Amino acid sequence: MTSTLPNENIRNFDDQITNKLISEIIRDRIKNSGKRFSANDNIADFINQGELEILEKEVASRIKDLLRSLVIDVENDHNTTETAERVSKMYLHEVFKGRYNQQPKVTSFPNDKNLDEIYTVGPISVRSACSHHLVPILGECWIGIKPGNKVIGLSKFARVADWVFSRPHIQEEAVMILADEIEKLCEPKGLGIIVKAQHYCMKWRGVKEPNTSMINSVVRGDFRHDLSLKQEFFELVKQQSATNNY
Ligand SMILES: [Zn+2]
Repeated sequence: MTSTLPNENIRNFDDQITNKLISEIIRDRIKNSGKRFSANDNIADFINQGELEILEKEVASRIKDLLRSLVIDVENDHNTTETAERVSKMYLHEVFKGRYNQQPKVTSFPNDKNLDEIYTVGPISVRSACSHHLVPILGECWIGIKPGNKVIGLSKFARVADWVFSRPHIQEEAVMILADEIEKLCEPKGLGIIVKAQHYCMKWRGVKEPNTSMINSVVRGDFRHDLSLKQEFFELVKQQSATNNY
C-alpha cells in the first residue's frame, strides 16, 4: 500500500513504535532543537496537532497516581473520581495554557501619525502560579508605551499578558518575559511594566501573611534613559490604580 501520510504523521508513527509517552516525544523534540523547556517557556512549536489531547490523558493518569499516593480513595470517593481529569484539563487549557498554545494573533499597524506621547494600559489582571509550589499568583499589571514605528490595539496588551502569565512563574522573570514579547510586537521607543501581585505561597502556606504583595517593574529604552519620562510613567500608573471606576 502506498502511504499518503504527511511527513509529520510518519514521524509520529515512528515515535509510537518506540512506545514512548507523548511527553517524552515532545521533550525529545525540544532537546534535539537545543531549546529550553523551563516552566515559564512556551513549547507550542513542538506540539503537533492532536497531541495536546493525548498529553491531557497522560497528565490525568499521573495526577490520579499522585492522588493515590496521597492515599485518597479515587475509586470510591465521588468527590475525587474525576479530579485528575479536571486538573489535567485545567493545567493544559486554562492556568498553564501559555506554555502549550501559540501566542494570540496580534496585528501591528504602522505609526502613521508619528505618535510619540506615552500612554499606559491597566490594570490588566495577572493570573499565574508560582513555579516553586504551583499555587496562584494573582494581581494586576500596568504597561506603559512610548510608541515607535509600530502600534498595536489596546486590548492586545491584555491578551499577550494573559498568554505570558498563564504559566508557572517567578514574578521577577514574568515581567521580563512580558517585556520581551511586547518589544517584539510593537518595537516601542520606551517600555515600562509594573506588576503588583499576591502570592498564595505566602498567603495560604509558609509564613501565612495574607496581605503582603510584591511589586516589581521593568523599564526599557527611553523610559530607562529619560528620568522625567520614567516619572511620568509611574505617575500615570498611580492615577490608574487610584481610579478604577468611571
Ligand atoms: Zn511558591
